[in-house]
Amino acid sequence: MSSPLANIYARLPISFTHGEGVWLWDEHGRRYLDGLAGIGVSCLGHAHPRLVSAIAEQAARVIHTSNIYEVPQQTALAERIAMLSGMQEVAFCNSGSEANEIAIKLARLYGHQNGNEHAHIITLDSAWHGRTLATLAATSSTKASKGFTPLPTGFIHVPQNDLQAIVDAAAAEPRVNAILLEVLQGEGGIRESHLDYLRAVRKLCDERGWLLMIDEVQSGVGRTGKWFAHQWAEIRPDVMTLAKGLAGGVPIGAVVLAGKAAGVFGPGNHGSTFGGNPLVCAAGLAVLSALEEEQLLDNAAQVGSYLKEALEQALAGMDGVVEVRGRGLMLGIELDRPCGILVAKAAEAGLLINVTRDKVVRLLPPLILKREEADHIVATLVPLIKDFLAA
Ligand SMILES: *Cc1c(COP(=O)(O)O)cnc(C)c1O
Repeated sequence: MSSPLANIYARLPISFTHGEGVWLWDEHGRRYLDGLAGIGVSCLGHAHPRLVSAIAEQAARVIHTSNIYEVPQQTALAERIAMLSGMQEVAFCNSGSEANEIAIKLARLYGHQNGNEHAHIITLDSAWHGRTLATLAATSSTKASKGFTPLPTGFIHVPQNDLQAIVDAAAAEPRVNAILLEVLQGEGGIRESHLDYLRAVRKLCDERGWLLMIDEVQSGVGRTGKWFAHQWAEIRPDVMTLAKGLAGGVPIGAVVLAGKAAGVFGPGNHGSTFGGNPLVCAAGLAVLSALEEEQLLDNAAQVGSYLKEALEQALAGMDGVVEVRGRGLMLGIELDRPCGILVAKAAEAGLLINVTRDKVVRLLPPLILKREEADHIVATLVPLIKDFLAA
C-alpha cells in the first residue's frame, strides 16, 4: 500500500521506540549505538533526565504564547548565548535554513542601510546552508538546487581556504558586503576551514566593512569541543547561525549578532510565529546548563580525539581510506569510492552513521559519548569498512 507521506526521503526501514543515553531501541527490541544523533541534534543523547524534566515542566505551564508578548525563557536563553559567544543580540527561529535565511536578509538590509541596494554574499564551494530558496542559492550543491530555479541572485561561490579567491571575487563584484561560511563543512564532507584562513577572512571583513557570517548550525553548541567552532580560531563573527543541537532535539534556530550586525534589525524587519517559544527556550536552557555542568565540551574534545585516533590507527595504511578528519565529535572518514551502502550495513550491525558527499562516513554522536562507547563504534565500523573496501 502506498503511503500518503510525500516521497522526499529514502528512509531505512527502521523505526525507534525509545532511547537512553547514546542508545536507541527499535520496535523489535534491537539496540543501536546512535553515532549520528539525528544529524548532530540530540547532543545530550536520548531521554536525558534534565532535558526531559525541563520540557515536561514547561509544557505543564505554557507551551506557546506569542512574540507579541514578553517571553522570559527567550530572554534568558538569549542572555546565555550572548554570554557564551561574546556577541550581543539573538533572534530565534525554527531551523538551520531559517536561521541562515535571516542572516541573508540581515546582510541585504545592512547593504540598504549603507547605500548598497544589491548586496552580494560570498559563500564557499561544498557549503551547505539549507533548502529554502535563498539558502539553496547560498549552498553550492547543484544537486540540491536542481529544478528549483530561478533562485535568488547575489551569491558568489569561491573555493574554501583560498583568500585570494575572495579578493578576486570582490574585485569583479564591488557590491559584496558579506561572507557566509562554515568553520567545518558538515554536509560538504567534514572539510575544515584552516584557522589561519578564518583569521585572514575576519581581517578582510574588518578592512572592507563586510559582515562575517558563520554558519554554526552543525558545528556549534559544543560539537567540536568549544561552544562554537570559530572559537578555535579566536575570532568572533558578526553573525552566527545556530540550530541542530541547541535545544537537544526540539526544533529551534537562532541568529546571533555582534558588532556592525547588531542594531541592523528593528521592529517589523523580521518575525516568526513559533520562533523562541517558551517550550523550545526552556529546552535550550536545559541543554546549555547540562553541557556546562556535565563538562560535555571537554568530553567532546577528549572523547572526540580518542575516537579520531582510534579510527586513524585502525584504518592506517588501508587501501581505499583517504583520510580521517574533523574536530571533537564531528568526524568524517573519506573513502576513495561511493560508500552509501555502509549506512544500512552499519545499522544491521547496530550502529547509526551517515554518509555525506557520497564518499565520507560521518559521525556526529551525542556529546555524552564515553570512551567505551567510542571503542564500540570503532569495533563495529572498522570491520565493515574493511569488508566493503575488500569486496
Ligand atoms: C543542517 C544544516 C543546515 C540546515 O538546517 P535545517 O534545520 O535542516 O534547515 C544549515 N547549515 C548547516 C551547516 C547545516 O549543517
